[in-house]
Amino acid sequence: MTSPAQQRLSRRNVFTGLLAFGGAVALAPAAAGRALAAGPAAASSPDGVGAGSVAVRRLLAGPDIVSCAGWGARPASEQVVVLSTPPQRIIVHHTATQNVSDYSRDRAFALARAVQNHHMGTNGWIDTGQHFTISRGAFVLEGRHQSLAELRAGTRQVRSAHCVGQNNTAIGIENEGTYMTSAPPTAQFDALVALCAHICLQYGLASSEIYGHRDFNSTNCPGDKLYALLPKLRAAVADLTGDERTEPMWHPAARAAHWHEWQEPHAEPEYRTAAARVHRGHHHPNPLDA
Ligand SMILES: [Zn+2]
Repeated sequence: MTSPAQQRLSRRNVFTGLLAFGGAVALAPAAAGRALAAGPAAASSPDGVGAGSVAVRRLLAGPDIVSCAGWGARPASEQVVVLSTPPQRIIVHHTATQNVSDYSRDRAFALARAVQNHHMGTNGWIDTGQHFTISRGAFVLEGRHQSLAELRAGTRQVRSAHCVGQNNTAIGIENEGTYMTSAPPTAQFDALVALCAHICLQYGLASSEIYGHRDFNSTNCPGDKLYALLPKLRAAVADLTGDERTEPMWHPAARAAHWHEWQEPHAEPEYRTAAARVHRGHHHPNPLDA
């Protein structure tokens, strides 16, 4: 059976250069991009890159993602809501926590638990707000329960709490760290590329639909440095998915005129609580450092 993601890859005829993805995209998406740029001729190369190749299967499978059970999540306080519609975009965040040099799995799991505790205990949300989290050590973790299963299925999304006005339409990715004056570690950024590429393929999203939190709410998130990397992120994702390299529909200068139009807190039940309202637009008060 052919999955929607396979069909998308097929349509885009991007079975070129994916050997690079299979072995090294987590470390070098730019190299994968150059390989993809080599063009269709490479598709019939002796390398045998095709729909059934290991490299393509790996791209379709996406990065390893640790489930809620894997990192020891608490149960959600009430049943999470699975919307019948697919997401329309991806929103990138930073956690505004310390830029730790502990890149271990244990640290990643501790971060996920701390964020969940903060979102449930302080913000009053039913579970972790965002769908996915990427640690400084490049571990990719499920955030809100069922986000991973729905991503793998590729047709629906879990209602979230990461960006006012976007919680019924956008996949939220939190990147551990504070990226106002320093950029994320290369491995973390590359994990973000791989995750975004997988999300775009699964849901049929264009790379131009990758945004930063500040595009929608009044916030520093995801930090000046990470925000400045979004064009590079979109280009790397486009190279992997075979999408056209395009920027978002509106120019950043237009953000101020438009972001308020996205405010729809009435449609987002978790923002009705007083604690949650306090955190609108600046929802990352250092859960590990408090
Ligand atoms: Zn944010």
